[in-house]
Amino acid sequence: MTRIAIIGAGISGLTTANLLKQDAEITIFEKSNGVGGRMSTRRAEPYFFDHGAQYFTAKTTKFQSFIQPMHDQGIIERWNARYVRIDGDQIIERRNWHDEIPRYVGVPGMNHVAKFLADSIDIRFNTRITSLSQNGKWQLTDDQHQQLDDFDWVISTIPSYQAAAILPKNVPFVSDINTIKMSACFALMLGFNKSLPIEFDAAHVTNSDISWIAVNRQKPKRSGPFTLMIHSSAKYADAHIDGDRDQAMRHLIEETAQIIGHDLTSADYKTIHRWRYANNANRDQMNISFFDHEQKIAACGDWSHGGRVEGAFTSAYDLVQKLKKQYFIK
Ligand code: FAD
Repeated sequence: MTRIAIIGAGISGLTTANLLKQDAEITIFEKSNGVGGRMSTRRAEPYFFDHGAQYFTAKTTKFQSFIQPMHDQGIIERWNARYVRIDGDQIIERRNWHDEIPRYVGVPGMNHVAKFLADSIDIRFNTRITSLSQNGKWQLTDDQHQQLDDFDWVISTIPSYQAAAILPKNVPFVSDINTIKMSACFALMLGFNKSLPIEFDAAHVTNSDISWIAVNRQKPKRSGPFTLMIHSSAKYADAHIDGDRDQAMRHLIEETAQIIGHDLTSADYKTIHRWRYANNANRDQMNISFFDHEQKIAACGDWSHGGRVEGAFTSAYDLVQKLKKQYFIK
């Protein structure tokens, strides 16, 4: 059977593995100790935060079919949020997602989608791939200098810059990947021992260093005390990602307090996470496939399909269709 190494256990890596597992022997290498990548949940008991992807849409029939089993088994639910758009510190629009296209969340956390997809997949955790070489078959090396088996194919599903840094320079698409810019994001997590009187569940914010505010506990099947999940703007994060983390946290707390009109110094729990490669800077960059059939290497990820969870799925889906069409994988 064809042996395939997949780098990364985010949504695109797990989708690739699921779509190929009947036809090939799959091993995923993941640098962290869990699945989900940017679609993950931070536990700081009693507080829980979805500190990456907040929700996802399913606009295509192929993604709708893919998520149907998760829906049937209660792994995802529709989030009918009371939604507002805020400009500066003014609410300029109120809507209810109940009346619009469905926005889905994993339950009881976003990471449950990845956990569902990881079932029965061979995943080697705490294994950061640092280089690849080919001598008939592919050999991967991790940051402990461990050599990892011989694979027929390698599929990278990690963010564009990270992929360009580890893939061999003679792979034809590496220079193209390196041009795909990804923006950073700070995720500010605040936990409270009593609820704040906020009259929305989710807000997109413009003209501010904040881009998103959500009451995490208002998503379906969340328990625990009141929590706020706040994302910075890409512009603020790109300018401060290597700066002082505490200073960024103080600034974003002050900004949020001003927007929602509540003092946030009473937060019982506060922390900030830096996503260095959070989102594709160009959301229109769609439908690019990175695939070299001679060297048997490919790359996908949300960044090659405009970003977002559905983009991650679509990039993996398209890559697998191409692979299956061109090769009789056995
Ligand atoms: P990733 O999730 O990044 O997966 C890559 C995996 O590879 C990770 O697990 C990583 O640990 C691993 N890895 C990296 N380098 C190596 C290496 N060298 N060796 C081994 N493993 C490695 N999308 C939406 O649809 N809706 C939203 O509301 C939304 N909000 C977001 C908010 C934030 C703050 C962020 C950061 C993202 C958001 N997104 C949202 C985008 C969404 O999270 C991504 O599009 C999607 O999760 C990307 O999946 P992926 O598998 O392509 O990449």
